[in-house]
Amino acid sequence: MNFNARIGKLADLLRASDRTFALTGAGISTESGIPDFRTRGSGLWEKADPAEVCSIAAFHRNPSAFWRNNMQWWQGFCAAEPNVGHHALAGLQKAGLLFGVITQNIDGLHRRAGSTVWEVHGHLRTVHCLQCDRREPFAIIEKWITGGEGEEAPRCNCGSLLRPDVVLFGDQMSPDFWVATQVLSGCQLLLVVGSSLQVYPVAGLPQLARDLVIINRDPTPYDNQAQLVIRESIGTVFKELLDEMGL
Ligand SMILES: [Zn+2]
Repeated sequence: MNFNARIGKLADLLRASDRTFALTGAGISTESGIPDFRTRGSGLWEKADPAEVCSIAAFHRNPSAFWRNNMQWWQGFCAAEPNVGHHALAGLQKAGLLFGVITQNIDGLHRRAGSTVWEVHGHLRTVHCLQCDRREPFAIIEKWITGGEGEEAPRCNCGSLLRPDVVLFGDQMSPDFWVATQVLSGCQLLLVVGSSLQVYPVAGLPQLARDLVIINRDPTPYDNQAQLVIRESIGTVFKELLDEMGL
């Protein structure tokens, strides 16, 4: 099947389903300039292991080093803008063709594009206190970094440490993950966009959908169960799709 035929089939599947969700991963945000840490040679992670740097163990071991290391990539997230893929998913929802987006991304770009979103790995809008649960805007960390960091990691007014509202390696899954498993019940069509479905438990979510479409550069473990697999740039796919559907 050529590219145009695949886009046509995707449009047909969307029109035929009355309960469609999208599940997105890092691939949808690379076109916003956010590197996917699983891409070899992306620089950032050539020497460091994300499972170590971005873990709750690393946070407890040395909170200020944890923030310094992770802010090397998280700062870029805060400056990024939604791209065609984010806007297209928000547009499909507005047109009544999509219920919302479940995302593995912490960059907040789906929310900024206007989608209903379940952020199963958390987000970078706020941080919270380990002791009293008080929430502070994430800007408190950005200020600490740009202000020359200091020796001590940022703390709450109560004196305890502030941690990110991101699901770190070694953390429990977020409440959004459990909500996502519920909203997916009865899902007729799941669009997997920019995720290679390698990280559990999120990689188990496609099992909750009746039909699958996979739009991803690399193969996934679900490709042979999917109704449709498209291995093209996400921006190109969604530009063509919106044209095809007259949106
Ligand atoms: Zn506190």
